Formats: sequence, C-alpha cells, structure tokens
Amino acid sequence: MQYSRCGKSGLDLPVVSLGLWHNFGGIDDYENGRDMVLSAFELGITHFDLANNYGPPYGSAEENFGKILKNDLLQYRDELIITSKAGWDMWPGPYGEWGSRKYLIASCNQSLKRMGLEYVDIFYSHRPDPKTPMEETMMALDQIVRSGKALYAGISSYDPEQSQEAIDILKSLGTPCLVHQPSYSMFNRWVEDGLLDVLEKNGIGSVAFSPLFQGLLTDKYLKGIPEGSRASKADSYLKSSDIRPELVSKVEELNKIASVRGQKMSQLALSWVLRDKRITSVIIGASKVSQIEDAVAILDHPEFTSEELEAIEEILR
Ligand code: NDP
Repeated sequence: MQYSRCGKSGLDLPVVSLGLWHNFGGIDDYENGRDMVLSAFELGITHFDLANNYGPPYGSAEENFGKILKNDLLQYRDELIITSKAGWDMWPGPYGEWGSRKYLIASCNQSLKRMGLEYVDIFYSHRPDPKTPMEETMMALDQIVRSGKALYAGISSYDPEQSQEAIDILKSLGTPCLVHQPSYSMFNRWVEDGLLDVLEKNGIGSVAFSPLFQGLLTDKYLKGIPEGSRASKADSYLKSSDIRPELVSKVEELNKIASVRGQKMSQLALSWVLRDKRITSVIIGASKVSQIEDAVAILDHPEFTSEELEAIEEILR
C-alpha cells in the first residue's frame, strides 16, 4: 500500500480506502463483510469510511463494523482511521437530518455507541445545509473534536464557495478542516470545476467517493445487468436505467485502453482518479474480497502517459 499525506496535515491515508455504504448492512451477509474488512486491512487499507445511515437498515453498517472491531480488530485501533458522518436523513422528526448542532452531536454520540468506540478519527458534515448557519454546523464539528469524540473534522459534497466558507470558519475556531469528501470519477467530474483548486489552496485533503461510478466504470455491465449486481437490486441507488447505452459504449472504449495497460477497467478508472495528485485517496465500495484486491493492485501499474490521458479525454468528451 502507498500512503499519501492528507493535505497539509500530519495524517497519511492509504491511496485506496474502503467504504461501507453498501454490502455491510443488517440485510447483508455478515461473514462476507467481515472478510472484506479483514482482507482490506491485511492489504494495508487502514481507512474505513462509514456514516450514521449506512445499512440498510440505517445504523446497521456501523453496528456490524463495531462487531468486527470488537471480535477481530480492536487491538489494532491505533492503526485504523475510522470515520463517520451526519447530514442525511437518519431518524424521524426535525432533529434527525441536515446540519444543526443538535443533530450532529446526537448523531456522533449514537455512531460511537454503535461502533463501540470512544472516538472516530474523522467526523464529517455529510452535506451542506442551506437552512442552517454554516457557523452552527462548523461549531458542532469543532465541539465534537474538542470533546475528544473525533480527532479531525471533514466536510462532504460542499461546493467550492461553501467549502471555502466552512474552511475559514473552522480555521477561526481553531479546528482545521482536514479533508473534503466529494464524488469524483471519469463520469462525474464536478470537482475539477473549482473545488480541487480551493482544497489545494487551503491545504485540505480530498478523498473521492464512488470512483467507479457505483460499478459502471468496471467491466461488469458490458454484457447487460448481471444478477446480484448493484444495478440489479430493487432498493439500490444505482438504477438499471442508469446503465445507459452511451455510457456502456464509453466503458467499452476505455476498457481497450485498460487492456493495453494490462489493467482491468475498474483499475483504469481508479488510477485515473488518482492521477491528480490533489486526490489523497479513492474510497471504493466492494461486494467481494476480489474487488478490493483488484483495487489495491493498481499500485503495480505505471503512471499514465500523456498519450493515454489524451485518448481517455477523447472518449470521455
Ligand atoms: P464505487 O464507485 O467504488 O462502487 C463500488 C461498487 O462497484 C461495488 O460495490 C461493486 O458493485 C462494483 N465494483 C467494485 N470493484 C469492482 C470490480 N473490480 N469489478 C467489478 N465491479 C466492481 O463506490 P461506492 O459508490 O460504493 O462508494 C464508495 C464509498 O464512498 C461508500 O461506501 C461510502 O463510504 C462513500 N460514499 C460517500 C458518500 C458521501 O455522500 N460522502 C456518498 C456515496 C458513497 P457490485 O455490488 O455490483 O459488485
């Protein structure tokens, strides 16, 4: 594994991190989730990304991760970076989502309880809240860090202007923003439009979520929608209608470049996100151990040539 410095902080993160949004919930096979977490750690993945509502049901990914920690990993606590977030819907009523101090602090307490932890390493505001003063959300993050419930503060999916405001407030409070967690992949390049510049200017790290566009940037959907895949599942965020023919055609072309480089399509997509040195880490999702092994194997492949990058741009255009 390679570790990369998270912005201008003291913290290194593995260039490949594992997220527990899908496949680690109460409806999933616990042993498979456990195998994935333990294999990831064996491969040098020290960074595990969670949130209050990962499951389903909500909270169950944190409960399962807590069980894995207790049974298998607690002796390695100081070798792990464990994150949680609050911002999306978690419990009913007015205090169970968005960015109030009430919600963030209650949610952080609940997450710690579910995982059996005294602290998480990074606690995120999961999304900006247009109806709550930014100061309130950032003061909640500051308090969570000062009370020892998190070591670092982060933000997710804030646009460039919101990010700058959050970074400035956190700085004034004395709790620097460590990291931003945006979506970023070959098919979703919004971060290139100002966000990465803001993060670089302020010395903030950047961990990219859904770098495989939820699986579309793999060879999985080249011959239809396989049974058991994310797009085949009824309650999934990736709908079968998202597997659009024009995107699949692009993946076919990209896959040819991957083959020439001796990579799988998924590996090309991850290497491409990491080509930008402002990206600290890619947070992958996985449904089986072999997908994590595939991801970590990108470290064996060479950097892109300018010809390869141009050919990729041509396809993505
Ligand atoms: P990806 O884009 O990496 O998609 C992961 C899915 O791609 C896997 O579940 C699997 O799907 C498929 N896949 C992975 N590797 C391979 C492979 N080698 N070959 C074929 N298929 C493969 O990421 P996610 O969308 O899962 O997001 C990753 C993490 O990012 C989340 O777990 C979460 O921690 C974080 N996240 C954060 C958000 C935020 O708002 N901050 C929002 C969303 C995610 P299949 O099940 O079909 O096998």
